[in-house]
Amino acid sequence: MADTEPAPARYDAIVIGAGISGLYQLHRLRALGMRVLVLEAGTGVGGTWYWNRYPGARFDSESYSYGYSFSPELLAEWDWTEHFAPQPETLRYLNFVADKFDLRRDIRFSSRVAAAHYQDTAREWAVTTEDGASFRARFLITAIGPLSAPTMPRIAGVESFTGQSFHTARWPHEAVSFEGKRVAVIGTGATGVQTIQEVAKTAGHLTVFQRTPNWCAPLLNSKIDAAEMAKIRAGYPEIFRRCQETFACFVHTMDPRGTFEVSAEEREAFWEKLYASPGFGIWQGNFRDMLTDRAANALISDFVARKIRQRVKDPAVAEKLIPKNHGFGTRRVPLETRYYEAYNQDNVTLVDISETPIERITPTGIKTSDAAYEFDIIIYATGFDAVTGSFDRIDIRGVGGQRLKDRWKAGPETYLGVLVDGFPNMMMLIGPHMALGNIPRSIEYNVDWVTDLVRHARARDLTLVEATRAGVTEWTDHVKSLGVGLLSNEINSWMTGVNSNVDGKQVRIVNRYSGSAPAYRARCDEVAAKGYEGMVLA
Ligand code: NAP
Repeated sequence: MADTEPAPARYDAIVIGAGISGLYQLHRLRALGMRVLVLEAGTGVGGTWYWNRYPGARFDSESYSYGYSFSPELLAEWDWTEHFAPQPETLRYLNFVADKFDLRRDIRFSSRVAAAHYQDTAREWAVTTEDGASFRARFLITAIGPLSAPTMPRIAGVESFTGQSFHTARWPHEAVSFEGKRVAVIGTGATGVQTIQEVAKTAGHLTVFQRTPNWCAPLLNSKIDAAEMAKIRAGYPEIFRRCQETFACFVHTMDPRGTFEVSAEEREAFWEKLYASPGFGIWQGNFRDMLTDRAANALISDFVARKIRQRVKDPAVAEKLIPKNHGFGTRRVPLETRYYEAYNQDNVTLVDISETPIERITPTGIKTSDAAYEFDIIIYATGFDAVTGSFDRIDIRGVGGQRLKDRWKAGPETYLGVLVDGFPNMMMLIGPHMALGNIPRSIEYNVDWVTDLVRHARARDLTLVEATRAGVTEWTDHVKSLGVGLLSNEINSWMTGVNSNVDGKQVRIVNRYSGSAPAYRARCDEVAAKGYEGMVLA
């Protein structure tokens, strides 16, 4: 460092990201009396809910199961207005949380982290942002999200389009009008589905470019009035207790029965009921063997295919919308509101690009193998370099300058999804190998566990906290073994780390913990109770 440059500011901990996990982590570490700095790329708090402002964005978890549970006061003060809150409401909620706990004063906004290098001798992290600022801290905590590194499609000519174009996860803060416009949407994942059903309401003409259809199911959202909110509030202890017990922290949980243990009539009636119920019940509350037994999966897929055929008037369009290369629930199920009915509208066209591939984006639109389309607006709902992508985009180096990206080339290796050997004093919130599901529930547990670990280290004046190699090997093997036999691990999707738009991400990997959330927590609790076994504390 040149003599004239100021010494980097020092903190006890640096947290990267001011989304749901970063905000709560700041709150918890502050309560330990630590000096904490949060570095946030955006101009405001909210993470996912700050960036994903596309039309129709909302979550698919019940609002009252999604908010933080740690503060009775917060639960008493915040009213949800819809069963599945739209993005603006969730962003308002997270701003409310930031204000209530006075979090902003420790957050440096517009600060995208470029690099984080471990300093062997000092046992601390040197962190630099893209705007050239440098900071040092004993602990580095990543709160960068599993779905936060958006990917544009690798299609020739993307830069040449002269109309408006947006990636859904980089949506402008101002409203975009579709009134009378010719609009294209590329991508039909959970984001594309929400965008399409919303844009179809006002666009002059909407053309959807679909490469792979997904199995969608009805969201069945509704408003929450004051009386219902009072009931929800009284029921919070029970709601959060239930979320602690279910497989993926949703209010829904797998039915203990096997698909073939009931009669065909019972099965059909059960599925009809699930299809007519709000939320993820049909995915998370279905027969226990739905995602492991091929014959069972084929039956539920056939049920949902029949629903699609009933809802889409043109049989040829319906067939295009029915997935043929994967079964129901083996990819994340998008929940929809009149998505299929949108294709019955005169102003909506579906283009199956598995039949007629996109050749290029032109200055005025999109050229497929058999037609040229003109557009005013192109929306890229093309997803994310998931789970490891947000790590890959930061130059993270551990002991001896080892790069995390290189270490994870063949897939992530972690201890409990939180630590990596060779990267001391770095803790990951909702990193690879973590239980996902209803994510704020996983986040709260994850943050509490990390906070306890930091408290433990500080109480003993320890300056190094690191997973052992053996611990990482054992946990990584365990996570891989949990995925064996799961039909979803045989399918290309972000959940198996495949992204056609990123070099080196065409091979399926195990990037998430697919055991139950209670089992995950039991294991982490046990590790802590045994004085952090599988780790070096020095
Ligand atoms: P995604 O599920 O990965 O979907 C991306 C879509 O873009 C796919 O249809 C994909 O087709 C298509 N695509 C990508 N590259 C393409 C290319 N070069 N040419 C043509 N099509 C291309 O991403 P996402 O929809 O953003 O959703 C990601 C996850 O975010 C969800 O699964 C969910 O977990 C979360 N999410 C949640 C909510 C919610 O809570 N309601 C809402 C939105 C998102 P292929 O399938 O052929 O690759």
